[in-house]
Amino acid sequence: MKAKSGTRTKSAVSRSEDLQSVVGKTSFRQALLRWFDEYRRDLPWRQAEEAYAVWVSEIMLQQTQVATVIDYYERWMERFPSVYELADAEIDEVLELWSGLGYYRRARYLHSGAQRVVDEFDGRLPSTVSELKKLPGIGPYTAGAIASIAFGAVEPLVDGNVERVISRLFALSGDPKRGSTRGQIWARAEELVDPDRPGDFNQALMELGSLVCALRSPSCQSCPTRQWCLARKIGKAEAFPESAKRAKPLPMRARACVVYAEVGDQRRFLLRRRPAKGLLARLWEFPSCERAGKTWPTLLELKERLAEAPGVKVEGPIGRTMGTVEHVFSHRRLRLRVHQLELPPSAADEPMSDDRWRWVDEEALADVASAALLKKVRKLWAGS
Ligand code: SF4
Repeated sequence: MKAKSGTRTKSAVSRSEDLQSVVGKTSFRQALLRWFDEYRRDLPWRQAEEAYAVWVSEIMLQQTQVATVIDYYERWMERFPSVYELADAEIDEVLELWSGLGYYRRARYLHSGAQRVVDEFDGRLPSTVSELKKLPGIGPYTAGAIASIAFGAVEPLVDGNVERVISRLFALSGDPKRGSTRGQIWARAEELVDPDRPGDFNQALMELGSLVCALRSPSCQSCPTRQWCLARKIGKAEAFPESAKRAKPLPMRARACVVYAEVGDQRRFLLRRRPAKGLLARLWEFPSCERAGKTWPTLLELKERLAEAPGVKVEGPIGRTMGTVEHVFSHRRLRLRVHQLELPPSAADEPMSDDRWRWVDEEALADVASAALLKKVRKLWAGS
């Protein structure tokens, strides 16, 4: 009798630690949700689990740290509290509010997505993953987040944190961003998602990856899911997931010119709006020209760029070089050589007839929709 009951106990324990079994999945979900209920961070977007708030926060959180996003999110929700205000806004204002968050395509997608939601869905975001994915900028991850958190749909999601946690729980080898490994991670996430609290479960997995299962030195001792974790059991938590081989960003060379004029007691700067498509689309910059590869654009090209500005005449050579700044975009490594040029006050006196160009004073320069690159150039200017 004793032996029989001992066998039963052993098998029950092993089943509860086995994520393939129903018992194991249930215990895992309970442990993770208990931990989440106790340790979840009090983040502003968690106070309003409505679809629009989830959408905005999830898009902002892509490629940006939580601590940075909080201020941006609060400013955004104050200015655009619903899809209607966002859909009505001018894209320039949207970009201005996004200024400094980087990856500006995200802001453009939110804006055009809001217009679609108002036009096609009567102002309400759709609730299914398949409908959500039809909106610009919404991929499987964001669709899963909105569907599960805002609508309680039993849908999985996989972001970088979930990818890491699941790779370790199941000791999955292979590049988590590609092919069969990516498919396996999504399949595991789908099997695990809690049928009663899918939104909380998904947030709990992300929170676990962010707070406990860190990329380096995960805190396995205090991890609520350690008993299910294969990577921990074999003593190789940090070996998963395999680091993905990323393509090296391609080189790019550019020249920019800080063109300024002293008007009364104010210094004014010439800015150019970049084209509607391509790198840093529609953002303001110190006028520049660029080339893919390692060859610098010529000073003549830069002069021709400046000559496009209405009323600006550059006679004689471009001014001295202030220095070079470097900036890495997701797919480009840019080196930008910065020049300066003072023009007579009359150049900055007239209002611009072309909305691709403008003069701004020093104070306004900080508020203009700008990329981190423009800030680097300003810093160089301030130190010159
Ligand atoms: S036990 Fe360690 S490696 Fe496994 S999920 Fe927890 S923190 Fe991550």
